[in-house]
Amino acid sequence: MGKIDREVVTVDLDAESIKKDFPILSNSENNKSLVYLDSGASAQMPRLVIDRINHYHQHEHANIHRGVYDLSEQATISYESVRSTVARFLNVADTSEVIFTKGTTHAINLVAHAFGRTFVRAGDEIVISHMEHHSNIVPWQQLCEEVGATLKIIPISDIGELDMEAYGRLLSERTKIVAVTHVSNVLGTINPIKEMVALAHSKDIPVLVDGAQGAPHMKVDIQDLDCDFYIFSGHKVCGPTGIGILYGKRNWLERMNPYEGGGDMILSVTFEKTTYAEIPAKFEAGTPPIASAIGLGEAIKYLEAIGLERIEKHEKVLTRYATEALTEINGLTVYGTAPNKAGVISFGVKGVHPHDMGTLLSDDGVAVRAGHHCAQPVMQRFKVPATTRASFYLYNTLEDIDRLVSSVRNAKKIFS
Ligand code: PMP
Repeated sequence: MGKIDREVVTVDLDAESIKKDFPILSNSENNKSLVYLDSGASAQMPRLVIDRINHYHQHEHANIHRGVYDLSEQATISYESVRSTVARFLNVADTSEVIFTKGTTHAINLVAHAFGRTFVRAGDEIVISHMEHHSNIVPWQQLCEEVGATLKIIPISDIGELDMEAYGRLLSERTKIVAVTHVSNVLGTINPIKEMVALAHSKDIPVLVDGAQGAPHMKVDIQDLDCDFYIFSGHKVCGPTGIGILYGKRNWLERMNPYEGGGDMILSVTFEKTTYAEIPAKFEAGTPPIASAIGLGEAIKYLEAIGLERIEKHEKVLTRYATEALTEINGLTVYGTAPNKAGVISFGVKGVHPHDMGTLLSDDGVAVRAGHHCAQPVMQRFKVPATTRASFYLYNTLEDIDRLVSSVRNAKKIFS
């Protein structure tokens, strides 16, 4: 592959002008203009999302689903319209299959509890992969300990791809669910979800997809993937924190017991017996983060207007450009080199601890993540205590990457 033509990026997606939509990106860090390369942890919010949330607080706030007065009815309409926006975003046909949660972690816990306690018994197995975020490991581990089931792990190769043959072998009549990430938050690998779902379904096994790093960065078509659950967080799609999405097939959601009990999720309550509301209300106990949901709706519309396909293409160009430049640095190792990769680069430089690297980059105004990225098994697999991770989004430019690379070079000089 030849060197990246800088024009390709500006022609396809004008990241420089997109950057201007994000007030925080014109800030500085340590007196240098901020280069934000930590969208994998949390993306920034464009002005229109911030304005929409402010507008809600100033003009529309009331509790939803309950009041008969105009303000409450308006808040309910605004909140519920986001369900349709999310359904369109994921190409979900039935909006009742879209559940609001507090985020990815909350949504996975919801399924581990509600699906797990309904369908998983002693002796059963749950299949996850070696590249999962802790939030797609711990809830399943807890479930296994509680009911006496076993966790089975799909191994990963040296370049960070799932071993699909081993995956096939792990699926058995004991497997109750497969829970796998769409995209690794450390290695960037985009997993072959459609193929994995088809294989699991051929054995009547449902599949949960952790889409925390998928939905923000590519067009997700639920009807095409055919997965049973798909989950993502608002704050990684340029929306606010405190809100996330669980898509679940009606067939499963209706048969699952509720996760949390309380207001809004019931049909009737007596001291003798409670009956539950239909989905989605059955899984949305209590007052939800209304403003955050409305902000999420605005964020999704913003991303759709730019185009998820264009965002994905842009990130691929950035990733290729950054990988080429970084790997020219002596002693630098990139962890995760699968050909089908999203905008995440984890790396280590010989002689420089990843935390020191993160701090030195910060001195240059470059914000990256350093640590185990809530994926300790990935660190164990590659025999490193931590990595430095740069992750890209629609507002990152080639100049951002140039700043990263020169800062990594400077850091290396300091330690040599
Ligand atoms: N899964 C993956 C792949 C992630 O990258 C993250 C966030 N780093 C999570 C789950 C957890 O998301 P949240 O903290 O928003 O619940």
